[in-house]
This record gives sequence, C-alpha cells and structure tokens, in this order.
Amino acid sequence: MFDILNIIRGKCPNCEKGDIFDTRGNPFLFRMPRMHPKCKNCRYTFSREPGYFFGAMYVSYALTIAEMIVILLFVKFLLGLGNLPAFFIIAFTAVVSSTFNFRMSRTIWIYMFRKKKITGRTGA
Ligand SMILES: [Zn+2]
Repeated sequence: MFDILNIIRGKCPNCEKGDIFDTRGNPFLFRMPRMHPKCKNCRYTFSREPGYFFGAMYVSYALTIAEMIVILLFVKFLLGLGNLPAFFIIAFTAVVSSTFNFRMSRTIWIYMFRKKKITGRTGA
C-alpha cells in the first residue's frame, strides 16, 4: 500500500527522487525540520492547502504512542526497571525522537493523501 522505504528516506511520493525535507532538525538545539514547499525534482506540491499538516498531528500521536509502548515493554520486562526510571527513559526518548517523529508523521501524511501519478504504475 505505502512505499515504506521512501517514507523512511523522506522522498517525494510522485517521483521518489526529490527530498521532502530541507533540514533534519535537532531536538537538542531546538531546531525543527524544514520542508521544501515543492519537490525540487518534479515540482510536486507537498502542502496542498493551508493547515494541511494539521492531520499529521494524529499520525505523530499514534507513532509516539507506539514507540512509548515498545520502550515501556523493553524497560519494564527486559531490563526490569521500576516505574520512575521507566518514566524518565520514555520522556527522554520522546524528546530525542521528536524531530524524527515530526518528519515521519508529515511524510506518512503526504503518502496517505498523495495524488495519483499521471504516468502511474498499473495494479498493485
Ligand atoms: Zn518529486
């Protein structure tokens, strides 16, 4: 259904060559990732209307919860740590992965609602 490799690499949903993001961002320097408004390669518009990425917030929420559950299971059952260390490890991971989640959620959102390719592949 989705091209998972291109989502992870942050490539354009239309040509699969141009980058969606200009900068990756850095949570320790309070820098958020910056997007290209259009694909440098094929001119595909990433933000289709004002507030288009509002819905990416829900993707980000689901992504963060999934990560937190995995970390919680790892910390509690494999490392056998208590509730307070588990809380701080999860909170630290949420901060560290924030720019990654920002990029992933917007990329997933773009791929969910991408336009059909004009010279598209048939079937799937
Ligand atoms: Zn493109």
